[in-house]
Amino acid sequence: MSVAEPDWAAAAALLAGREEVVLACHVAPDGDALGSMLGLGVALQAQGTRVTASWGSEPFEVPQAYGFLPALDLLVPAHDVPPAPDLLVTLDTGSEDRLGTLADRVCAARDVLVIDHHGSNTLYGTAHLVDADAAATAVVVAELLDRLGVPLTQEIAAPLYTGLVTDTGSFRHASTSPQVHELAARLLATGIRHELINRAIWDTQPFSYVQLLGDVCSRACLEPEVADGLGLVWTVVEGVDLHRYGLGLSDVEGVIDVLRTAVEAEVAMVLKCDPVDGLYKVSTRSKGAVDVGALCTALGGGGHRFAAGFTSSQDAETTLATVREALAAAAQPAG
Ligand code: 5GP
Ligand code: MN
Repeated sequence: MSVAEPDWAAAAALLAGREEVVLACHVAPDGDALGSMLGLGVALQAQGTRVTASWGSEPFEVPQAYGFLPALDLLVPAHDVPPAPDLLVTLDTGSEDRLGTLADRVCAARDVLVIDHHGSNTLYGTAHLVDADAAATAVVVAELLDRLGVPLTQEIAAPLYTGLVTDTGSFRHASTSPQVHELAARLLATGIRHELINRAIWDTQPFSYVQLLGDVCSRACLEPEVADGLGLVWTVVEGVDLHRYGLGLSDVEGVIDVLRTAVEAEVAMVLKCDPVDGLYKVSTRSKGAVDVGALCTALGGGGHRFAAGFTSSQDAETTLATVREALAAAAQPAG
């Protein structure tokens, strides 16, 4: 699924000569959500557009790993976002509910431009730049800026590079195409300090995180035959873990990346208790045999084939049982 020419034209027409644009990304934003939103925000501001950007979940704080991003002054808390924007642009957000408390702006806005790369996108806007083959939403934004004739500056390149490097897992995932490296080369050519960006994203943690990682990994469980020929590795990050080490939900995103290295497991899963609502935010990763995107979508969430998630209103044991059942069904040979 790539973007058709009329869709690029419709998006360009919506953005041309705009006085004001509201940008929104998905709740609990990651590097691609923030990076694609701020990259577009800087570019539109440079064209003379008034830009506000936000997301609809608490805490309204940029995760520490992304504190280096430029143009953070574009960010306003969700309750300060105009109730009925002329043009709302959503980024990296596959469905309205992923906008959290900003979901009501979709109906209220005159126009909604959806920029995304989730195959599960529900096409909830009035115009769509949705490319399921794009490695990151930042890739779609970069092409839009090319088509608008906006030159890449360091202030635009740094957030777009952040989106690209996070969603490709440092250029390791299957989505890392020649075009991804070509875009990365163009972004680096602006002179951004990619080594500092990468250190901030991947290699900077408070010592308390290292301790939490030790705790949750030491009690991780490996189920080598959760379904036919399928191994599952999982752990739970409880509210008390976060409290003990003074960490928030956004600080423990990387736990899944350690867990999924277990070679015996095809699927890795981390249940993270959200201190705000007490619900488990479930992260899943697959090495290829299981489409966790489909699995999580069926459980009310979404994501991609190899990386997906959902929110569970059940306790950890019941959530695990539900996932085991879904994995067993997914492991059944078709027909
Ligand atoms: P992560 O596990 O890193 O939080 O998310 C992996 C992927 O799954 C991302 O593309 C993210 O947008 C998606 N995802 C995670 N949780 C949810 C959820 O509750 N609902 C939906 N629709 N997608 C999710
Ligand atoms: Mn993304």
